[in-house]
Amino acid sequence: KPVTTDMKTLTEEIEKFAEGKKIEIDTLKIREEYRRDFLGNVSHELKTPLFTVQGYILTLLDGAMNDKKLRQKYLQRASKGVERLIYIVKDLDLITKLEVGDLKLTREDFDVIELIQNTFDLLEMKAAQKQIALVFDMEYPNPVYVNADREKVQQVISNLLVNSIKYGHANGTTEVSVENLIKNKVIIRVTDNGSGIPKQHIPRLFERFYRVDQSGSRSEGGSGLGLSIVKHIIEAHGEKIYVESEVGVGSEFSFTLEKTAKRAE
Ligand code: ADP
Repeated sequence: KPVTTDMKTLTEEIEKFAEGKKIEIDTLKIREEYRRDFLGNVSHELKTPLFTVQGYILTLLDGAMNDKKLRQKYLQRASKGVERLIYIVKDLDLITKLEVGDLKLTREDFDVIELIQNTFDLLEMKAAQKQIALVFDMEYPNPVYVNADREKVQQVISNLLVNSIKYGHANGTTEVSVENLIKNKVIIRVTDNGSGIPKQHIPRLFERFYRVDQSGSRSEGGSGLGLSIVKHIIEAHGEKIYVESEVGVGSEFSFTLEKTAKRAE
């Protein structure tokens, strides 16, 4: 009798053990899949600009180097390709840190209105090139102090503005507004009247490397990482991001931040 009990216990233990191992193996498999998927995407993203740069270099070596005008033109294009590679690698670095939870927030109190205006200044040229107006919805806005990681919030605003420029129409407008939500929250909205996003893509928009129109987005030269970086940063702050969009009308991305009564020094 004691043997059967022991056998039963033993069987149970073996099952438990096997079950535990199975879960471990499943997790490992998922991780391995994730890693493979990630690496696959990375090499895919890097390939296009690398081949482009190599193409210009080969053309130069092939004789274009001897023509002053062509030399200038191809070197400039090669440099643009390298610039794009740098952006992609920077985004990859950031997303890796954000995904393993390795990025610490440095919170401080700052005026988010001023930060938005700063970001407008940085992107003014880019917007002007596409004849897109960046506007603030208040003419003389009062400061709004929030408690957050200033640099990362700037990256969020910048990524959203860059997208509104990339996917906007010439002579379009991107409007930014800051509103009180509930007592200690503000909501920042970035609204464009660009191409809009088809409904079926909305749930996947914040996934890394996800793009709506593969060819169209690719020609805009993004990495498909912008929105996933945005989401990670907002969630690391314990805040939320929302999107509303309609094809042919435009898109609105909005996110919340914690308001603070305390003024920055
Ligand atoms: P990308 O580097 O391709 O811009 P993102 O993660 O920033 O990557 O955006 C993912 C996709 O969402 C884009 O490829 C684009 O198709 C779509 N998208 C993002 N923002 C907008 C917008 N303001 N208007 C229309 N489409 C957008």
